[in-house]
Amino acid sequence: MKQTDSKKLFQQALNVIPGGVNSPVRACRSVGTDPVFIDHAFGCFVYDADGNRYIDYVGSWGPMILGHRHSQVIKAISTVLERGTSFGAPTDLEIELAEMVIAAIPSMEMIRVVNSGTEATMSAIRLARGFTGRDRIIKFDGCYHGHADTLLVQAGSGVATLGIPGSPGVPESFVAHTLSLPYNDIETIQKVMDEQGEKIACIIVEPVAGNMGLVAPVDGFLNILRELTEKTGSLLIFDEVMTGFRVAYGGAQSLYGISPDISTLGKIIGGGLPVGAYGGRQDIMGHIAPQGPVYQAGTLSGNPVAMAAGIATLKEIRQPGFYSALDEKAERLTAGLRSSAEQAGIEVTVDRVGSMAGLFFTGSEVKNFEDAKKSDLEIFSTYYQGMLQRGIYLAPSQFEALFVSSAHNNRYIDQTIRAAAEVFAKIKEID
Ligand SMILES: *Cc1c(COP(=O)(O)O)cnc(C)c1O
Repeated sequence: MKQTDSKKLFQQALNVIPGGVNSPVRACRSVGTDPVFIDHAFGCFVYDADGNRYIDYVGSWGPMILGHRHSQVIKAISTVLERGTSFGAPTDLEIELAEMVIAAIPSMEMIRVVNSGTEATMSAIRLARGFTGRDRIIKFDGCYHGHADTLLVQAGSGVATLGIPGSPGVPESFVAHTLSLPYNDIETIQKVMDEQGEKIACIIVEPVAGNMGLVAPVDGFLNILRELTEKTGSLLIFDEVMTGFRVAYGGAQSLYGISPDISTLGKIIGGGLPVGAYGGRQDIMGHIAPQGPVYQAGTLSGNPVAMAAGIATLKEIRQPGFYSALDEKAERLTAGLRSSAEQAGIEVTVDRVGSMAGLFFTGSEVKNFEDAKKSDLEIFSTYYQGMLQRGIYLAPSQFEALFVSSAHNNRYIDQTIRAAAEVFAKIKEID
């Protein structure tokens, strides 16, 4: 692996961009490396500025479910460019995307498109508060819902305590209404909702957690959230920015058979362009301006380029058999990783939901953020670096998911498993 140009670019970037990156985890600090700069991508590969090719399991953090530069997506973008890039006025494409999303996810009776997942969750929270007339919200430790103030409450603060700011710059008073509880803990959420359910505007949850590594919901967890919110007149928000159109065409809610009041989307529905969306019951969405009083706006929201990329992506992934083929690839990968680790005598916990997967360096079950933090981060760094050197591009953090795209084929998945087997053997040697 050569890295001269990436090193130079990173030095240059450090002078003009904080940390040299426009989103923190790209800096690769937690894995003890500097980032590789990407020059271009195609299919399941990214190519860096140094001339190296990698099999990509980041997929721009989730959107690239078809792989990079899928012909239909590129064609749709090129075609729409001839009409213009943004008008700040309604277009037919916005209706087309809205109708496709609503057809895929029936709990979303109406949707509003925004420009990022952060905007979607922030607006969904405002809507839930505006609709219920309540301030307090519940989230779960280790779930990430973008970087809006009220949602930036860090994990780890004990059970049912009031939120403390997870970042300088977030006033304590801004997060005083945010409660963060342990994920998958049915008893705790039941207790908290029994005590203060009438004061809770909403519960927001990643129905499959993908931002603490991959953590699937335990049996009954999502059901109890639905039950408790219904009982207390709180709203249930599924943050499906990552899981929407990823774990199934209908999102995690179709897999688990739960109908939330509001859902948030992003990533895949933008086909690689900046998009987010939130939507839900018609009576709730009717509170959004200009139909109702809850204000939310956006200069570039629903721009034709992003809409065209999203529509083209959804048209591809709604084809019969798309998800079963994709899940099979992901299963081949996770089964291969698990058995290679086992053969090398390395303790791992590998989990998968659809084409999202995660690998923790711990022998014990991972059900929540506390469990996830038991993973050996030093081993993860060695693993990350070893994989990168062997041409495998993983998220540079233990607390991120891995994504398989339809452009990954068995040959490259097997190459990934062989690379992992080598790295696991090396880790065992060092041990
Ligand atoms: C990525 C993500 C977000 C934030 O989306 P951005 O587009 O990065 O603002 C919110 N929620 C979840 C579950 C996500 O995975």
